[in-house]
Amino acid sequence: MFSAEAIAAVRAAAEPKSVLPEDAHAPHLEEWRGRWPGETPLILAPSSTEELSRIMAAAYEHGVAIVPQGGNTGLVGGGAAKGEVIVTTKRMRAVRDVSPEGFTMTLETGITLQEAQGIAAEQDRLFPLSIGAEGTANIGGVLSTNAGGVHVLRYGNARDLVLGLEAVLPDGRIWHGLNALRKNNTGYDLKHLFIGGEGTLGIITAAVLKLYPQPKEHVTAMLAVPSAEAAVALLSSAQERSGGQLGSFEIMGDCMVELVLDQFPDLSYPLETKAPYYVLAEFASGQKGSLREVVEGVLENAFERELVLDGTIASSDSQREQLWTIRHNASEAMKLDPSPCVKADVSVPIAAIPGFLQQADEAVLQMEPGARIIAFGHMGDGNIHYDILGPKDGDHGVWRSRMAEFEHRVHDVVVSLDGSISAEHGIGQLKRDELVTRKDPVEMELMRTIKRSLDPKGLMNPGKLLEV
Ligand SMILES: Cc1cc2nc3c(=O)[nH]c(=O)nc-3n(C[C@H](O)[C@H](O)[C@H](O)COP(=O)(O)OP(=O)(O)OC[C@H]3O[C@@H](n4cnc5c(N)ncnc54)[C@H](O)[C@@H]3O)c2cc1C
Repeated sequence: MFSAEAIAAVRAAAEPKSVLPEDAHAPHLEEWRGRWPGETPLILAPSSTEELSRIMAAAYEHGVAIVPQGGNTGLVGGGAAKGEVIVTTKRMRAVRDVSPEGFTMTLETGITLQEAQGIAAEQDRLFPLSIGAEGTANIGGVLSTNAGGVHVLRYGNARDLVLGLEAVLPDGRIWHGLNALRKNNTGYDLKHLFIGGEGTLGIITAAVLKLYPQPKEHVTAMLAVPSAEAAVALLSSAQERSGGQLGSFEIMGDCMVELVLDQFPDLSYPLETKAPYYVLAEFASGQKGSLREVVEGVLENAFERELVLDGTIASSDSQREQLWTIRHNASEAMKLDPSPCVKADVSVPIAAIPGFLQQADEAVLQMEPGARIIAFGHMGDGNIHYDILGPKDGDHGVWRSRMAEFEHRVHDVVVSLDGSISAEHGIGQLKRDELVTRKDPVEMELMRTIKRSLDPKGLMNPGKLLEV
């Protein structure tokens, strides 16, 4: 794809110990879903922004394309290489600053999300971004995909948690945008091009992240609800009656819960009643003492209004963890099922969720009565992971060949409800071609104009997010 001389020039721009030996390539060429096998002539792991800048300048000069990688946990094929040079930020791990008084920390982007949470916690501060892959996903990856997760309802997604950024542009220039300002009205807010940009405009090397006070008390409940309509009403009531102390509100379809319990026999069903949907709701307070009473009041009202059929409140940290484990194991349980899985990560306005679930279920089951619909997700953000496994004893090859058809049908329903075909996982390769057909043409053209202007040679993560 690129000449040996061009690759040699890029390699020469890196420190010798930043060049990964071939026997260390494998984890960078396999992605989580196993759908996009990678291929690369060279993997570089620079340890500083300056070194990365030299590498990018050499790649630009010699016309070599780059695929940025973080923890490689992305679900849309955004970090998979097809002959390009892979640049991983995993050795860029400095903690540049932590300011508990200013409620900020400045981290290089090779630090994992879990480590970032720990760095904040050491100062009795909260970095609220939390996703299932947080032990491996790193700051660069979560910012580049604008990750969401389980605390968006209260704190927003990755985009809302960034004050400043440092990034290396495709031609090697460094953008020094690491300010910790909460007010800065000096024109276009360029950081938002890189956040959610999926590595198509440059490589994020450091970020100033917002911190919050650590909650002192959590109350977590798992609730059986009679319908998706009841879950929406419960969400609204819980937000109102708890005075904004609701931190997470996750919905789980009965098929999802059953699949997890089947795949992980150590977990047990925590309720006495079965229901079509379950809600995992977590409330958090900055003060100890009165939260449980508040939550009991919310639930009492919900039982009276028949919004809840059954429920349990975790009475210890280990019980809280057990309830979350059911939810967190959803993706892993699907991976363990032998059937390939359609993964539709979609969002609709919250009030439209029941209509979405009903219409999508009808459409899917009409196409394949044996399809197993595993619907779950961050209901408080209008985000449903509408995943579909093939019939239990069906032919996996046949199912795989039909998966795109099912995904399109689900997306038709989403678009008819003014929703988005990607809520939090991004576009990558998976949804690139579909994006063009679903997004406003003027918006697509503006995106292409930005891409051409920042990356005129088309060298940054080509083939991902958009074709220029
Ligand atoms: C089990 C599991 C659970 C998940 N749960 C959630 C969830 O709840 N919410 C959610 O939003 N997502 C979730 N995800 C998907 C999510 O997108 C990723 O886990 C995470 O955001 C990606 O981080 P990463 O470091 O692994 O990035 P990678 O996979 O390495 O890269 C992702 C994209 O970002 C680009 N990129 C990486 N680093 C940089 C950088 N420094 N500069 C520029 N571009 C870069 C890559 O080129 C690629 O396009 C989950 C994934 C898994 C496997």
